[in-house]
Formats: sequence, C-alpha cells, structure tokens
Amino acid sequence: MKDKYDAIIIGSGPNGLAAATYLQQQGFKTAVYEQESKPGGATKTLELTIPGVKNDMGSAILPMAFGSPFFRSLPLSHYGLEWIFPDIPFAHALPNGKAVACYKDITRTAEQFDDDSTAYVKLFEELINGWDELENDILGPLGFPDKPSLFLKFGFKAFPSVKMLADHYYREERAKLLLYGAAAHSGLPMSQLASASFGLVLTIMAHKYNWPFPKGGAGNFITALIQHYKALGGELILNKKVECLSQLPPSKTYLFDVTPKQLLKIDGLDLSSIYRKRLENFKYGTAVFKMDWALSGPIPFLNEKCRKAATVHLGFSTEEITISEEMIHNNQVSSKPYVIVAQHTIYDDSRSPEGVHTAWAYCHVPNGSTQDCSEIIKDQIEKAAPGFKDLIIKENSLNTKQLQVLDPNLIGGDINGGSQDLSQLFTRPIVTTKPYTTSNPSVFICSSSTPPGGGVHGMCGYNAALAAEKFLSK
Ligand SMILES: Cc1cc2nc3c(=O)[nH]c(=O)nc-3n(C[C@H](O)[C@H](O)[C@H](O)COP(=O)(O)OP(=O)(O)OC[C@H]3O[C@@H](n4cnc5c(N)ncnc54)[C@H](O)[C@@H]3O)c2cc1C
Repeated sequence: MKDKYDAIIIGSGPNGLAAATYLQQQGFKTAVYEQESKPGGATKTLELTIPGVKNDMGSAILPMAFGSPFFRSLPLSHYGLEWIFPDIPFAHALPNGKAVACYKDITRTAEQFDDDSTAYVKLFEELINGWDELENDILGPLGFPDKPSLFLKFGFKAFPSVKMLADHYYREERAKLLLYGAAAHSGLPMSQLASASFGLVLTIMAHKYNWPFPKGGAGNFITALIQHYKALGGELILNKKVECLSQLPPSKTYLFDVTPKQLLKIDGLDLSSIYRKRLENFKYGTAVFKMDWALSGPIPFLNEKCRKAATVHLGFSTEEITISEEMIHNNQVSSKPYVIVAQHTIYDDSRSPEGVHTAWAYCHVPNGSTQDCSEIIKDQIEKAAPGFKDLIIKENSLNTKQLQVLDPNLIGGDINGGSQDLSQLFTRPIVTTKPYTTSNPSVFICSSSTPPGGGVHGMCGYNAALAAEKFLSK
C-alpha cells in the first residue's frame, strides 16, 4: 500500500508539535495523532479553579520556549502569541520578609551581595555571553561539541553538585540560595553530581531572555504553534489514542512523543528485544504535587522583589532545600518543602475576571506518591506572604496520579520525562549518540525522554525530526 504520510507524530506535546512542524516545513506530509480532546500535553491552560479563571495545568513559565533555537525561528507572534516579561525573572524568599532577586541585568543582581558580587559575575558572565555558541552543544545529544573550549568551561561548572558549585563560588547564604532555587528544578538531591547544571542553565536563561510566559496562558503557545503547523499543511487528529501501529494510516516514519514505558506498550513497532530491554532500564524521576488557586488579590509577599517576580522560589535556607530534596529520594516529603510559585496575573489581567488573581505552585514528591501536600505548600507560601490563605477563593490540587490522568507522559508524576541525573542527562532513553532512533529504522522517539530532556523548548522534537529527515531523504 502506498504511504499516505511521510511522518505520523503520536502526541501533541511541545516536542511532538516541534517535530511535526519542522518536517512539515521541509515539505514532508505529516499528521499528529493526540489521545486527548485538547492538544499540548503538559502545556495546557484549563479552568481548574473557578469559571473564567485560566490556570496552567502543567508548564507555566516558558524561558526555554522563548529561547529555543527552533521555536524562536517560527513566526508564532503572527498567530497571536504574545510574551509577557516580568520586571524580575525570579526571586527567592528569605526568612524575615527578606528576598534576593535574579534580575535580567547581571550587574544589578550581583549588586545585592556584599561578598559575592564579583563571584556572581565570574560564575555566569562568560557563559551568558557565549550562550549563542554554546546552546547547540547543550540542547542536543551527546557528541563532540562544536565549541569544545566553551563547552568544557560550561562542563566544569555544570558537572558538580549545586552544593559543590555554590560552596566554591559563594560565601553568602543568599547567593547560594538563589542558585539552589534554580537548581532544585532538577528534582535531584542538592549534593548529586550535575544538579548544578539546572541552576546554571535556568539562571543563564533569566539573564539572557528573562523568564517570560505567554499572555492568556501557556496554552496560547500551543494554540499559536498549531495554527502555524496547520497553515503549513499539517493535520491534527484529536481523541485518538494510539495503541497499535496498525490503527494508523500507512506512513514512512512514526515519531512518538511518549516516554519509554509507553512506547513499550505500543503493539506492532517491531522493536528488537535488545532495544526493548535497554528501554526497560530507563529511570523515572522525582514527581510533583501541583496546586492552583483563584485568589481575591495578589499574593501578599512581604518583600517587593517577590511581589514583582513572576516566579518565586521558597525554601528558607540551603539546609531546608537540601533536606527537602534529599527526603524525596528516601520516599518521604519534608514538612518544609522547596516550593516553586508562579503568579501570572500580577502582569497578565487577561487570565481572570477583574479583582481575581491566579497562583500556581508545586513541590517535589516521590514518584507515584499520593500524599496530599496542599497544607505544607500553603504553609511555606504563608511564611513569605502572611495573609495568603485568607485570599483563597478556590483551590485545586493534583497529585501524581491525577497528573498522569491529565497527561499519560507524566509517569508517576515525573514532569521531566525521566530522571535527569548524570546517567540520563545527555544519554536518554539509552546510552547512544543517536537517542532519537530506535531499533526499527522507521520509528523514532521525540519526547522529553530524549536530550535535552524536560521543559518546553521543543528541542527533543526538533532533533528527532532531523533524524527522521535523514531517514526520509535516503
Ligand atoms: C506541573 C508541571 C509544571 C511544569 N512546569 C514547567 C515550566 O514552568 N516550564 C517548562 O519549560 N516546563 C515545565 N514543565 C515540563 C513541560 O511541560 C514538559 O517537559 C513538556 O511538556 C514535555 O513535552 P513533550 O512534548 O515531551 O510531552 P508532553 O507535553 O507530556 O506531551 C505528550 C503528549 O502525547 C500524548 N500521548 C501520549 N501517549 C499517547 C498515545 N498513545 N496516543 C496519542 N497521544 C498520546 C499525550 O496525551 C500528550 O498530549 C512542567 C510540567 C508539569 C506537569
């Protein structure tokens, strides 16, 4: 039978859509199959609290999408995407109503420190200035770097644990906390090798691009991307769960925006037993307990830096964050967890009716945990913003199981498509220089379970599409 498509992409998350868009741009005939009625995977805006209030179900702050070499090449503003740039990319709340901010301006950020201002600039400046040359080496699979000397410099700082890096560069607790807050996005223990890499990359993003978010909700990023994809001639089929290859029309290639566990369940892929065995060894990582609120006012943070930052990290000492993230790996949750808070409506009044504000937050929990963390998350926010609880009109929480119902890729509540420890940072889903290919030459994997991993950047999808293009062009 003649192939109807050049490529069918299974899953409409940011990576699936990036893969589909790139291949469609190159003149291939593609279609995206999505099991949900709404596309976007973990990048969706839903009414999770009260009608008329738009909450981001998953991703909320999208610096990696704004800075993504592939996404930034697309004319998404033409399809209605508007970015909002907060005055402060992110802040970290300190005890007693104090705070430290990561401003876009590196000098202004460094000026907050007494002893560590020179060290702050020394840690980041060269990497920020070199990021345009470095990004291809960081956002792709393992290989010989294009810029070996710069990559090595990045590696020396990224390879250690965040504790090692912070202790080496800084003397002040608040400088260390700013780095810990960014690094803890990794879900890794603070003493684990390579945990520093998250702190570095996310802080570089803040200084280079700010930490922007789409006006009206993260889902608007997906809406614009799909409109562009369709304008190129791409097809999107919703409400179609793919369980077997024979369900799909004939196609020269298939790109799966799913994690290894899910890929192994698809019938008819003709994967070798060795490849299947290697996929079975893939490790999933830390999960999250997620909360959304409709509030009768903005979060009353004591400190102005927190009031002006769209993202606020909570964890009132490096010790508190260390314990919080370490405990997850011993199957426990600290009563004082590290919490990430996003407050969009201080900059975006299109998300809620007048007088109503939104807030979004999560803390890490063990994979598969069903523990209700709503009180401990609120207690942490209340410490930095007394009176927060009094503003709650309605709240919604999602434990790991509920998250996985909303998006089957969130295995056990893992939001990064698998553990991002050193063994899987550049080499996921298996150790190879060609992570997007499988043992079947026409089947590819394009989800965040491939390099560069979690986050809305689409680079897993783009890299997988390059691999598929190579096959299609043979
Ligand atoms: C609570 C939370 C907060 C987050 N915060 C941020 C943030 O602020 N910034 C950031 O950059 N990232 C954030 N992330 C991470 C980010 O959302 C993910 O890394 C990103 O969505 C991964 O994209 P993906 O395309 O690989 O997979 P997904 O977005 O998970 O999409 C996979 C898609 O495939 C579909 N699918 C799966 N199996 C099948 C099948 N068999 N048939 C058909 N369709 C199928 C799913 O329904 C889904 O739509 C967050 C995630 C969560 C959950």
